[in-house]
Amino acid sequence: MMQIPMVDLKTQYHHVKQEIDRAILDVVENTAFINGPAVKEFQSALEQYMGVKHVIPCANGTDALQIAMMALDLKPGDEVITTSFTFVATVEVIALLQLTPVLVDALPGTYNIDPVALEKAITPKTKAIVPVHLFGQCADMESIMQIANKHNLAVIEDNCQAVGAHYTMNDGSRHQAGTMGHVGTTSFFPSKNLGCYGDGGAMFTNDDALAEKLRMIANHGMKVRYYHDSIGVNSRLDTIQAAVLNIKLKHLDTYIANRQHAAAYYDKAFANHPKLTIPARDPKSTHVFHQYTLVLNGVDRKELQAKLQEKGIASMVYYPVPMHMQKAYMDARYKEGDFPVTEELSHNVISLPMHTELTEEQLAYVVDGVLEAVAND
Ligand SMILES: *Cc1c(COP(=O)(O)O)cnc(C)c1O
Repeated sequence: MMQIPMVDLKTQYHHVKQEIDRAILDVVENTAFINGPAVKEFQSALEQYMGVKHVIPCANGTDALQIAMMALDLKPGDEVITTSFTFVATVEVIALLQLTPVLVDALPGTYNIDPVALEKAITPKTKAIVPVHLFGQCADMESIMQIANKHNLAVIEDNCQAVGAHYTMNDGSRHQAGTMGHVGTTSFFPSKNLGCYGDGGAMFTNDDALAEKLRMIANHGMKVRYYHDSIGVNSRLDTIQAAVLNIKLKHLDTYIANRQHAAAYYDKAFANHPKLTIPARDPKSTHVFHQYTLVLNGVDRKELQAKLQEKGIASMVYYPVPMHMQKAYMDARYKEGDFPVTEELSHNVISLPMHTELTEEQLAYVVDGVLEAVAND
């Protein structure tokens, strides 16, 4: 029986082992553990790849969001709008900074934030919007930037899942995900599309003044050593992680192509199936498939997962509980039923194995496993 995990970082490592081992050993030999040359190298390489003026590396994707919100001078009580269908980090940092998270519903096809609901949620206290490019596809940035400009709001793109995706605006301009808002954030968590061998993150901006501020806040609020101009944090990308990322960035486009190949295979197998809905594509965005996520129609998800597991096929539910139904974020403002699309998705989505190393044989095995399991459900 085959075993198909959600991600296969081991096989990926073995394909680039020589390069990676050499890069890591080099850092160790030079004991350049903190802010070593590989960090600057990676920063420049990623600036070039992203077509953005400034990349500011930091310790993880959650820090990136927090530092971005600190740099935008948001004040306690300011409202920040984001989607209820996301990973907790997005909402967590808003709450930690004593800002008010204002949640809105997602769209049923792309699972990304609904721009109509977003605009309706704006009040005089609203200061920022955090669109999440969920599962690897850009949110409706055309509408979001229009709304933000109209209401004078900052946009922080949570790009933890969509590094390498492109978005085409109505004026024909093409942008990397994470470079359209005032600041973009990402994570290099190992399983992310551009992942390192531990924790890592970065922020993106084209604004020189904002870049300086982001860099300062990530470094204890100091520009000159031991002179602290603002309250900051300690958030650095390790040199060893930067060395790994320098290698992985060179392979990113191939990795994305492999993910897209797997997604196309799944699409072909599941399109038009009465019990399965494949992920919708926004024609303005490319999709880099951090996850391949189906919506089940009248299938018992737990049973399906158990049947897949019996065949050695992994599956996951991203995300089983919407943010407005989480114990930590439950609030008198929200109740069950407020965000019907998000709630429906949280009950019926299922993510299949998706990574850079899937073979045709493995894809065929997953497809057969899923089709067989739903056929006699
Ligand atoms: C992974 C992720 C984060 C957090 O990144 P970490 O590096 O784990 O802190 C934030 N938002 C989204 C949407 C993510 O997927």
